[in-house]
Amino acid sequence: RTSKIRNQKDSIFTIMGQLAHKYNATDLSQGFPNFETDDYLKELVTKAMKAGHNQYAPMAGVLKLRERIAEKIESLYGRKYNPETEVTVTNGATQAIYSAITAFVQKNDEVIVFKPAYDSYEPTIKLNGGIPVLIQLKGAQFTIDWTEVAKKITSRTRMIIINTPHNPSGTVLSKEDMLQLESLLKNTDIILLSDEVYEHLVFDDNKHHSAAIFSGLAERAIICASFGKTFHNTGWKTGYCVAPSALMKEIRKVHQFAVFCVNHPMQHAYAEYLKDPQHYLQLGSFYQEKRDKFLKLMKSTKFRAKASAGTYFQVMDYSEITNEGDVEFSERLIKEYKLATIPISVFNIDNKDNLQLRFCFAKTDETLEKAAEILNDIK
Ligand code: PMP
Ligand code: GLN
Repeated sequence: RTSKIRNQKDSIFTIMGQLAHKYNATDLSQGFPNFETDDYLKELVTKAMKAGHNQYAPMAGVLKLRERIAEKIESLYGRKYNPETEVTVTNGATQAIYSAITAFVQKNDEVIVFKPAYDSYEPTIKLNGGIPVLIQLKGAQFTIDWTEVAKKITSRTRMIIINTPHNPSGTVLSKEDMLQLESLLKNTDIILLSDEVYEHLVFDDNKHHSAAIFSGLAERAIICASFGKTFHNTGWKTGYCVAPSALMKEIRKVHQFAVFCVNHPMQHAYAEYLKDPQHYLQLGSFYQEKRDKFLKLMKSTKFRAKASAGTYFQVMDYSEITNEGDVEFSERLIKEYKLATIPISVFNIDNKDNLQLRFCFAKTDETLEKAAEILNDIK
């Protein structure tokens, strides 16, 4: 007998991370900041530890934190979630996604996934016996063709997963997109899994349209978020999901046996830190500056880009340099030039001619300058 997941390869983030380390490369691959999280937040963690919050947390999360999460959502998106029954603190958004899919997707259920997609969705669906129904995002703007989505919905469709702002493309779904989705899902029992981990990282005139805003979506939506992304501490692996209580009840049944609860002192620290909305409201302008700096530096290279609308990723086209595949080219970049990026094709796209790489610009100015210096050398 063999394992259920025997054909699964290592995640690209593991592969690129290891290669970056091996070749001592400048690392713009995996999405994490290479600068420090706020000292004040670290002090709050220490304070929570010293106050004795070092044993298991409550299963659904520290209530004070769940209350702060509900307040934040209400102030930003105008919807009230009950902290007791509709908010759960998870081990990063990844575990929220895992628990949500595991709770609802059964053998042969279909789940609509837009590709390129964050790499955890598809294996989790398959692990639960579900069938990923993949729909390609269209064109250079990676937009959704809603007519195609309508055609792919069947009586077996159990769930649809959206991700806005979108990793890897940096595209932000418009209000019109959300309304189209709302009208498509009306009178169905399809669950919406809305991955909104980059909700605060939105640039220029773009706006984040959370599923929480739209009644017809919120009533069926499991919304996932990540403090790691928001507060520059991906290594603390803390996130959460919110959903109507009937859905959340089922998610918690998975959660209690997957992890039971997540780290305790961090939850107290985040609850205190969330008291000041500036801690997340300034994030968009902070990363917009990083994006602009990176794009300015890249102007003199042969990489071409349409500015990312959200996330801390920038997709760049390298067709002026070579027509080799993105996996090959990214490997060559690490080995010959000591620069690590992420090839887009690993996020599951059909297009074999796709000549694009993803760069993470959540890096110090020094790292961005170093990367540009290397990329300027590539002729
Ligand atoms: N969703 C998307 C789209 C992501 O890019 C990531 C990765 N950071 C996650 C979910 C997972 O977030 P976390 O690190 O909180 O598990
Ligand atoms: N979300 C991060 C990225 O896209 C990686 C998270 C992970 O390694 N699973 O780079």
